[in-house]
Amino acid sequence: MDLKQINRAVEGYLPQADEADAARLRFFKGLFELQQRRADELEAVAAYEPAPGDQLDRAYLAGTAAFTAAPVVVAARDLAATCAQVAAELAAHAGLADQAAFALREADWDELLSGADLGLAGSDPVAFVTDVVARRGELGVPTALTDDLLAMALAFSLRPHLQGPAARVMGAVSDDAKSGSHSRPLDCPVCGSPAALSRVGEVDTLHGGARIQYCATCGTSWPFERIRCGSCGSRSQEGIHHFHVDGDEAHRLETCEGCGQYQRVVFANDLQVPLALEVEDVVMAKLDRIALDPRFSARGE
Ligand SMILES: [Zn+2]
Ligand SMILES: [Zn+2]
Repeated sequence: MDLKQINRAVEGYLPQADEADAARLRFFKGLFELQQRRADELEAVAAYEPAPGDQLDRAYLAGTAAFTAAPVVVAARDLAATCAQVAAELAAHAGLADQAAFALREADWDELLSGADLGLAGSDPVAFVTDVVARRGELGVPTALTDDLLAMALAFSLRPHLQGPAARVMGAVSDDAKSGSHSRPLDCPVCGSPAALSRVGEVDTLHGGARIQYCATCGTSWPFERIRCGSCGSRSQEGIHHFHVDGDEAHRLETCEGCGQYQRVVFANDLQVPLALEVEDVVMAKLDRIALDPRFSARGE
């Protein structure tokens, strides 16, 4: 994560943010700092080797997540330590109800993760979170720790373990696989998570291309087709629409008639603040509320 850029983006949003949004931005800025600090600690002790380049390219083009062939080793004790830090941060600064904060602080992560499938954590993180939540009774998760909170704490905790290896994978995938005339991966080519958001615009020449998808689970961004549904992969030009909220051209919802899903898209050229995808993920949460509003599904005008 680029903490300097994240800070610039947060500072850009704060003056216009209402109290609740400002508190959210400050919470996430603290969380990103924690995640990066933890990622640095973990990087210093663990070495990750991606699969060989030609094998990586083949998997990339086939849409197979790189971590399934070469998983990250996530030690239960390390992940438990990360979870304890993330849970303490959530409890202290996320504005949660007392009972939820207490449950987070009191959770015994060593105990809870001792029965979890850590192999899944490093090969298919979305499945890992789903698995822990599904087996919560067996794993001894306290009742006050709701499914949502548990999933959130786990997902936030996995990022520091995965982002370093993910960057190494993307560094080893060839430019041709990433940007040649092939179909782009729909889900994250590294960890298999669905994209959290999309960025359109030429501002970020580092990533090239007109559109990239961003994975919040492992931090990967990858080139994507300009006109294509990020959920089902449909390329139907007529079936894909963009909506923005009054006065905000930079943040739009891209909807797909084919699958009925939507994706949050930041149009970088219309953005009034410095671009940090981590921060956009936080800011665009309000688009989810709009997308879920029944009036939105009666779209068409
Ligand atoms: Zn990913
Ligand atoms: Zn679709």
